[in-house]
Amino acid sequence: MAKAKESHKYIFVIGGVMSGVGKGIAASSMALLLQEKGYAANLVKVDPYLNVDAGTMNPTEHGEVFVLSSGLETDQDMGNYERFLNRDLGASDYMTSGMVYQSVIAAERALKYGGKCVEAIPHVRDEILRRFTAAADESGSRVSVVEIGGTVGDFQNALFIEAARVLKMQQPDDVVFVMVSYLPVPGTLGEMKTKPTQNAVRQLNSYGVQPDFLIARANHPIDDKRKEKIAIACSVRADHVISAPDIESIYEVPCNFEKDKFADMLVKALNLPNGKKVALTAWKKFVRMATKEGLPEVNIAIVGKYFTTGDFILSDAYLSVIEALKFSAAVLGVKPRIHWLNARDFEKEKGTTALASYDGIIVPGGFGETGIEGKIAAIEYARTKKIPYFGLCYGMQLMVIEYARHVAGLAGAHTTEINSKTPHPVVAIMEAQKEKLVHEDYGGSMRLGAYPANLKKGTLAYEAYKKPLVSERHRHRYEISPDYTERLTASGLVFSGTSPSGVLMEIAELPRDTHPFMLGTQFHPELQARPLAPHPLFTAFLKAAIAKKGNS
Ligand code: GLN
Repeated sequence: MAKAKESHKYIFVIGGVMSGVGKGIAASSMALLLQEKGYAANLVKVDPYLNVDAGTMNPTEHGEVFVLSSGLETDQDMGNYERFLNRDLGASDYMTSGMVYQSVIAAERALKYGGKCVEAIPHVRDEILRRFTAAADESGSRVSVVEIGGTVGDFQNALFIEAARVLKMQQPDDVVFVMVSYLPVPGTLGEMKTKPTQNAVRQLNSYGVQPDFLIARANHPIDDKRKEKIAIACSVRADHVISAPDIESIYEVPCNFEKDKFADMLVKALNLPNGKKVALTAWKKFVRMATKEGLPEVNIAIVGKYFTTGDFILSDAYLSVIEALKFSAAVLGVKPRIHWLNARDFEKEKGTTALASYDGIIVPGGFGETGIEGKIAAIEYARTKKIPYFGLCYGMQLMVIEYARHVAGLAGAHTTEINSKTPHPVVAIMEAQKEKLVHEDYGGSMRLGAYPANLKKGTLAYEAYKKPLVSERHRHRYEISPDYTERLTASGLVFSGTSPSGVLMEIAELPRDTHPFMLGTQFHPELQARPLAPHPLFTAFLKAAIAKKGNS
């Protein structure tokens, strides 16, 4: 049996009653508090589905695909983790059942199991344990906070809970279990009910696991009477039942946990010295600005296509973009009001006039044909009416296509993603990618992860970053074609960021004397925006939007 690293500390976060109640935010908040107490923490997400990574999933169903610096395509929770911890997480900090099984099956094919029958227990369980240890080693942390996706009782997360149970058996003083459960207040009763949570704890008990803490997610704070009830019914100490009522901003959660002295209790349960006093000084300052009433509003239109399941899911598909806007808005002292506009609406005649009332327009990342002409029409509107524009990946490619068609005189210019027969393929597939598509090698095969870019002095980009070399995260198959960069430059477009070799165009912009802020990035700047480190390009875009609002 794989033996986990001695004395490394683990907190396992498991959901009760239902998913979607903020397990990821609870896990992120615990890790942030441990960090505040002086203990290096890493956060691990376990996704029990069979996809090898999150890259092949539709964002309308599963939310945004978050890309790590390493290039791994992961669940949006990893984005929350990085934003709370204010640091990069490693490829070992994410795992799916697909990844775990792929390793076990590859080892079996390579005769690594010495002729044995390969089984879920012990082989799959041990691969999970090996991955927990690898994540701790890679990050060099003192404590790992591991979130097991889904809810207790899901067939597919049973092996992960079993691995955690075994770890607790191997290292009884080093492993703590936290259940994040939901306590409903049925409208007809008007009273908070603990029974579903009691049942969820019993279900976890049936795996041989006893939670040490219970985070009580509900509309309201949980009262002492119900804490006592849970204590008696579930054998969780009453002071270990942590109140987690609905709040305005997810970033308030760590501050709320502190009201229950959660960090001190966690450290004690992990048998660690108490450590530093939790101050959260910079964090609280950010939360104050982000939740402040009465700040001037800036109206930002996001022109996208992931609309089919309604606004709620739509915003999940662009989660990092929304958060990035919030962080920059907090430093600038404004409130971003985001308006979701369906790109398809701009394909109708006069559709774009609806854009007149916004202070800034964003076209975010995307794939495929749906709404593409609408996005191009919105970009043309932003360019000609001088509305600040920020294009993210697809939003940059389409900005270049719009410029090619309407300014550079390249009629019919397009991306070969949509039209392989275009007379002017200004956006074309990268050479290295062609082969992959022929072999239907779609998973994890785009240009992914962090790459450096050199910035040109005197440009919007340079002015925002204030340095000549940056590193940003990518997720794309297509590129601005090197065959067209000269003609586009000659007609006034500025490529202000390029790969160090000069071959790949990383940032396109218009000179300030033609437009107040028109800029697109081939990378996804939103993936590296953090509450305590807002992204300079989002800040520059919002500044331009504020100026536009002031002028109109
Ligand atoms: N579809 C484009 C490409 O593959 C853009 C991808 C994106 O916006 N992430 O290059």
